[in-house]
Amino acid sequence: MSFVELKGIGKIYVSDNNVSVGIRGVDLSFDRGEFVAVTGKSGSGKSTLLSVISGMDTYEEGELYIEGEPTSHYLQSDWEEYREKYISFIFQDYNIIESFTVLENVELALMHIEDKRLRREKAKELLDRVGLTSHLKQKGSRLSGGQKQRTVIARALAKDSPIILADEPTGNLDSATSKEIIELLREVSRDKLLIVVTHNFDEVEECATRHIRIFDGAVESDRVIVPPSAVEVEEKEEPKRPDAKRERRKEIENGFSLGKAIFFARPKLTVFLCLLMIVGTFGIFSVTASTGNFSEVLDGYYMFNHIEGRLVISKQSGEVISDSELDSLAGELGAEKQLRYDILLDSTDMFFASFPIEGDMDRMVYVNMECTYGEDFGDVIGRYPRRADEVLLYLPISYQPTFGKDRVKLDSIDLSGMSYKVTGVKYYYDNNLTPRCLFTSEGFRTATANFYLSYSSYIEANVRVRIGDAERVIDIISCIPSFEVEDGKICVVSKDFDGVGSYNEATVRISAAYQSENYDYGEYSKTIYFNKSFDEGHISDKKAPKYDVDAYGSDSIIIISDEVLREVAEEVLDGAYAQASLFFDDDEAAYEAAEVLKGRGYIAVPSDTKYEPAPAYIILQLISALLSIILWVLVIIFLAFFINLCSGRALDAFKGDMAIMRSMGIQVKVIRLAMYVRTLISLIPAFILVALAAILIFTSPKFNAFFTYLYFWQYILIYIGMIFLTVRVTRKQIQRLFGESVKKSLKGGEDQ
Ligand code: ADP
Ligand code: MG
Repeated sequence: MSFVELKGIGKIYVSDNNVSVGIRGVDLSFDRGEFVAVTGKSGSGKSTLLSVISGMDTYEEGELYIEGEPTSHYLQSDWEEYREKYISFIFQDYNIIESFTVLENVELALMHIEDKRLRREKAKELLDRVGLTSHLKQKGSRLSGGQKQRTVIARALAKDSPIILADEPTGNLDSATSKEIIELLREVSRDKLLIVVTHNFDEVEECATRHIRIFDGAVESDRVIVPPSAVEVEEKEEPKRPDAKRERRKEIENGFSLGKAIFFARPKLTVFLCLLMIVGTFGIFSVTASTGNFSEVLDGYYMFNHIEGRLVISKQSGEVISDSELDSLAGELGAEKQLRYDILLDSTDMFFASFPIEGDMDRMVYVNMECTYGEDFGDVIGRYPRRADEVLLYLPISYQPTFGKDRVKLDSIDLSGMSYKVTGVKYYYDNNLTPRCLFTSEGFRTATANFYLSYSSYIEANVRVRIGDAERVIDIISCIPSFEVEDGKICVVSKDFDGVGSYNEATVRISAAYQSENYDYGEYSKTIYFNKSFDEGHISDKKAPKYDVDAYGSDSIIIISDEVLREVAEEVLDGAYAQASLFFDDDEAAYEAAEVLKGRGYIAVPSDTKYEPAPAYIILQLISALLSIILWVLVIIFLAFFINLCSGRALDAFKGDMAIMRSMGIQVKVIRLAMYVRTLISLIPAFILVALAAILIFTSPKFNAFFTYLYFWQYILIYIGMIFLTVRVTRKQIQRLFGESVKKSLKGGEDQ
């Protein structure tokens, strides 16, 4: 029985409208130990013969036997296995992976050795045999033709397959080098079947044991030069049925090490891919940050601004609750604090603070603030407010350089036109939150009054003053509240007399209007007008404090104390505002108090209460959440598309490498995995950057101001997005790399 036997083999090439004969009626048999030289004119079918023997091409006629086994029923996977077990192929144009070093090229063929150190030793040993010891670390692209072919031979040896097929291995070499290569081939393949196609029989004459001439697809002559010495085939022990798990592990390990090798073999490409991945990741970061955190959808909808222990009350009749009534309720229920006018607690987007950033008066910022009361922020820098003109600020960490780290640095802040002392600060990291200012109850009332005066009132005043002997009447059309004016007083400031002079008579009429519509909570709408005249007793005889009249665009203004301000506003609110808040230790106590008030004509709702919004609203929210998710996915798909577009050209460089790896019998599975590993590695810098961003957002105030704070689950989402991106990019790349060969193999499948 011959080792390899071809019986009546025919191979026809069918292209679009053309049929050409590759080989026909070929009967040949080969044994181990033979050195077969194949010659013939160009186009005579030499390469076809080798590709049939190697199983890289199918045949239509006859039968190829390998160790007596017919192969015509082989499927694609059988051929792959066959190639892995029997064939090493040496091409005219070398086919080494240029970006790999000599050593790596050979190691690639030694994937079956699990121990990496052994693998390396074996590779070195083989390279020693082909005389390349001094070029181990040289890149393939830097080798001469002869050195490349030596590398290929070492690689062929590494596989230790019994058949070595060489298709014009010296075609591109000068004659001296050619001789060397042929001798080397002879030397290293004494016990193997070696078939060399050549156009120059002279160079193989000395080594060959047999000469076959091909003419027009058929064997013209077959001459034995020297009978080959019989080769004793050592009965290789049938390899133990590899256990599937172990096999799998080997594949994975090989995929990983190959992926790493591909990654590092082309540094420029690698850096480029890493940069693309960073761009992609930045995109995912942005889209994750901008699609919001769905806190409403996740947490539910609160009826009121939730403050631990806050109970919101009003009367079923819609009547206003009086001060005394609220006092007695608070006493009875054991409330710690109370607010008669709590409207600012739930009006979250109208109050503005202004202050200079890091003490730089040219960099004033206007920040939306929520007003709050009765909240406990735990330990704070500085202390909680005690007076009406004091506040505690609850701010994002990005304001730390402005307000101080250990003590309060900026001690005064302008809130809707009134200047407050900042007694304490507390920072938070979630820069999606609105900053808050915590008042005392007096301060809260002043803020409320200020808010209503500035939004819904007008001032009319005329003041009679005497400067020396002259008397003037001053018309005033604007009003500024200030803590600096004495309790219960008003101050007149006019360009005309610069605050100096005495007021002998004054009529100050302040008018204010309040209109309320509260949709969430009962429904009432009322407008109340208020007029108040102040007599001489109210006029402060002090010069008005540092107000720059010009800055307010009016010649004359009055400045009123916070007490007057409250008096005006509360008289308005007294008749119209029907809601109040009581503050207890905790929500539980608030629920208990609500129980007590049941059946007594009150509506009592703990601020912890959530409500079911209208179904339409929920649907709308869900649709918007869904759209966000779709947008998120679309952005990633777009980014993957973009990255593929950018790296497409660079990828073409891989095509050849992949073909070489496949021709060496490295499984597609392994190459595929290697591609995934390669992209995953290129993700590492981006991965680290995201982690770094997270840390910086959490530690550096400057960074916190610049980047949106994300929740832990959003970071998870980013990482999921990155992996999703990687998979998409790699899948596309694999399709590009293997697309053609897959088509080809499909065609082969049909033929069989
Ligand atoms: P050689 O290697 O001796 O130069 P080949 O085996 O490459 O010859 O080619 C033998 C014949 O088969 C030629 O006529 C060639 O045109 C044809 N042939 C080879 N490969 C293909 C192919 N892929 N498609 C179509 N015809 C082919
Ligand atoms: Mg050829």
